[in-house]
Amino acid sequence: MQFENSREFARQLDKEDKLSKYRNEFIFPKVNGKEVIYFVGNSLGLQPKTAQKYVDEIMKDWAELAVEGHFYAEKSWWDYHERFSEKLAKVVGAKPSEVTVMNTLTVNLHLLMVSFYRPSGKRYKIICEEKAFPSDQYMISSQVRFHGYDPKDAIVEIKKRDGENNFRTDDVLKKIKEVGEECALVLIGGVNYYTGQVFDMETITKAGHEVGAFVGWDLAHAAGNIELKLSEWNVDFAAWCSYKYMNSGPGNASGCFINEKYHDTKDIPRFEGWWGHNKERRFLMEPEFQPEPTAEAWQISNAPILAMAPYLASLEMFAEVGMPALIEKRNKIVAYLEFVLHEIDKEVDSSFEIITPADQDQRGTQLSVFLHGEGRELFKYLMEAGVITDWREPNVIRLAPAPFYCSFEDMYEFGQILKKGILTKETIQ
Ligand SMILES: *Cc1c(COP(=O)(O)O)cnc(C)c1O
Repeated sequence: MQFENSREFARQLDKEDKLSKYRNEFIFPKVNGKEVIYFVGNSLGLQPKTAQKYVDEIMKDWAELAVEGHFYAEKSWWDYHERFSEKLAKVVGAKPSEVTVMNTLTVNLHLLMVSFYRPSGKRYKIICEEKAFPSDQYMISSQVRFHGYDPKDAIVEIKKRDGENNFRTDDVLKKIKEVGEECALVLIGGVNYYTGQVFDMETITKAGHEVGAFVGWDLAHAAGNIELKLSEWNVDFAAWCSYKYMNSGPGNASGCFINEKYHDTKDIPRFEGWWGHNKERRFLMEPEFQPEPTAEAWQISNAPILAMAPYLASLEMFAEVGMPALIEKRNKIVAYLEFVLHEIDKEVDSSFEIITPADQDQRGTQLSVFLHGEGRELFKYLMEAGVITDWREPNVIRLAPAPFYCSFEDMYEFGQILKKGILTKETIQ
């Protein structure tokens, strides 16, 4: 499609957009009385208008039913999490039995490593990407030390080539082969939080299995963003937070995937609690643990219902719209943003560079822009002008126009604000 950098053209794209009505289903913060242009759905998604109702229902049930709410609330609490499995399974390409909601992301990754990082003999190394999200680095390092290894030896990082912004699949595969039978686990962020690069999860998973390692994915930036086929790719485990693209609310519960081949096996090591026990017998308080024959066996505590209510509200919207429609709009709106950025770049004479892959198959909703000249001043100016982006050292702003609620006109408008910011003298020095 031939794009144009004009308001009329952007408005026309909005008119043709089948998802445009969903914009009105979210609450936008305001700056100077105007709704913001929100580019940080990759950090904290906007609040769906239905979220409040779902929370209010729980508060009301709690007031009116108290403990009886566990069984007699309209959405009973004892099995509240079960309302997520089928819908979440569609988002991540899994079977409903392979998916559940529990804890928070880093906690889940730790718990999953109890099952899937079991170093022994020669096989004790973990392969991950260099400059992984800090929480993942701390998590992996502490796990390795917990098992008595030295992180410098046991953690093998995949590196980018000098002068390149993104990882090459070939380099990942080569590293996996090289570590070979010393490799216990491959654990990578499926979508890189800094650049927005999407890893070839299917190929990498296969390569990990070929050397006899487990393969897990941190899908914080992938869930609700890109197409995932966790079952088909034969991934061993994965976890994601829900407050980014899934719009569930700050710090909310994490989703996790455990391949069905590990269900119903009594001997898999796992930290256990009563919420993983056979649900028919959960309240009998028997001494011996009987795992649910699903991912739910990994659940430990009873679910934080109040937190999960807005997640459920949001997930129902995902079920209604479906990932294919979101991805179709995502590709178009990101391509339009990319076009607008290039147009502005020409007009102001080259001052920034998009470091996210240009290939649509290797990126999702996010474009990361390296600012050569302007830096932090420009970021500040954008925030004050009602463009909410985020800043990552040394000089990158991340722009993620979530297809659920961002408009094509937002992209055009952003371009105009950006141009003005760059041309304004104060921000150039
Ligand atoms: C956002 C993010 C996290 C956050 O972890 P929490 O446990 O939810 O605080 C972890 N890893 C990655 C890759 C992330 O992008």
